[in-house]
Amino acid sequence: MPGLSAQFSSTVFVMPTTRDYYEVLGVEKSASGDEIKRAYRRLAMKHHPDRNPGDAQAEAAFKECAEAYEVLSNSERRSVYDRYGHAGLRGTPGHDFNSMNVDDIFSMFNDIFGGGMGGQRRAGRGVPRGYDLETEVELTLEEVLTGTERDVEFKRLDVCETCSGSGAKHGSSPTTCSTCAGQGQVAQAGLGGMFRMVTTCPHCRGRGKVVTDKCNDCRGNGRVSVKRNLTIKIPAGIHSGQAVRVASEGEPPPQEMSPEGKGIRGDLHVVVRVQDHKQFERDGDDLLIALPTAFTQAALGAEINVPTLTDHTTLDLPPGTQHGALFRIEGEGLPNLRSGRRGDLVVITQLVVPRKLNDSQRELLAEYAKSEKLEIKAQSPSLWAKIKDAVKGG
Ligand SMILES: [Zn+2]
Ligand SMILES: [Zn+2]
Repeated sequence: MPGLSAQFSSTVFVMPTTRDYYEVLGVEKSASGDEIKRAYRRLAMKHHPDRNPGDAQAEAAFKECAEAYEVLSNSERRSVYDRYGHAGLRGTPGHDFNSMNVDDIFSMFNDIFGGGMGGQRRAGRGVPRGYDLETEVELTLEEVLTGTERDVEFKRLDVCETCSGSGAKHGSSPTTCSTCAGQGQVAQAGLGGMFRMVTTCPHCRGRGKVVTDKCNDCRGNGRVSVKRNLTIKIPAGIHSGQAVRVASEGEPPPQEMSPEGKGIRGDLHVVVRVQDHKQFERDGDDLLIALPTAFTQAALGAEINVPTLTDHTTLDLPPGTQHGALFRIEGEGLPNLRSGRRGDLVVITQLVVPRKLNDSQRELLAEYAKSEKLEIKAQSPSLWAKIKDAVKGG
């Protein structure tokens, strides 16, 4: 059957995703709205077809992320999804991203990318603004204590210098798109002719102009992917999930807004992840440490050695210290991001009972046991709740 394969070759069918939405965005089930937003922004920029020309897989991934974001960014739909999964959302309103144009999806969530015309992309008011970018750095708790510098490398789309962003080969210039007569939009009959829908012109993708003689360096896109290296100052006291914003290190306005990239550059957001520490747990500006304590030390009282983030200090345990007792060592926590004032180190005692006794120890303890009058009252087992309360209350 000649011609048949050619007829179908340009159609790619992508099934709606059945992958877990949290997995698609690479976030925890407990992720906050901000984390979900950031994850989506990062992935949408990564998979955007402008950055992956002709890559059907990237386009499918881009659409899958949009679908996941649409659900998880809406608290009502998210809670339905959390309870009933994909089945719960069946038949509820939502977009069919697979049949949507990439640019339309992108502008749907335009506000989170930073790009646009002062927030009104289509209205054409204001100065065009390029997209924000995001990159991530990992810090240790020790670096949170002192603040640090990090070299980051990221990619961004910059104006192609060869064609000054026009996308046209030297000596030629873009021509008016014949499909939309330069309007960037076309009207289509929808739902059997009942409605007329205005959509982005598929031929020029909204630009209104087409390049016939393409610039070799940018393949007609007017933008090229450029690697950029920066040294970023990260302030002491920063928290996981917070970001350092570097103004004007994002992208110039996209080509369809301003071919030569005139306007405001987007920003770069450097998102911080703080690694878990093997000894300390962070609670706001406080540090928590569980300190193994011999039951004899707890019973008799002792001066014990406590590690701090950079050194160590001593703590006077009073006689009769209980398991799970809290001691606050002032100023040995982390600095507050704003005030710089350091939080506390909270020591939580963990009584250690000897696993083995030698003969003389056993005799001594047995002797002691004869003299002991234990008053044991049942208590709530939720030690951690108690610790939390005590830390917050302190
Ligand atoms: Zn070029
Ligand atoms: Zn057009």
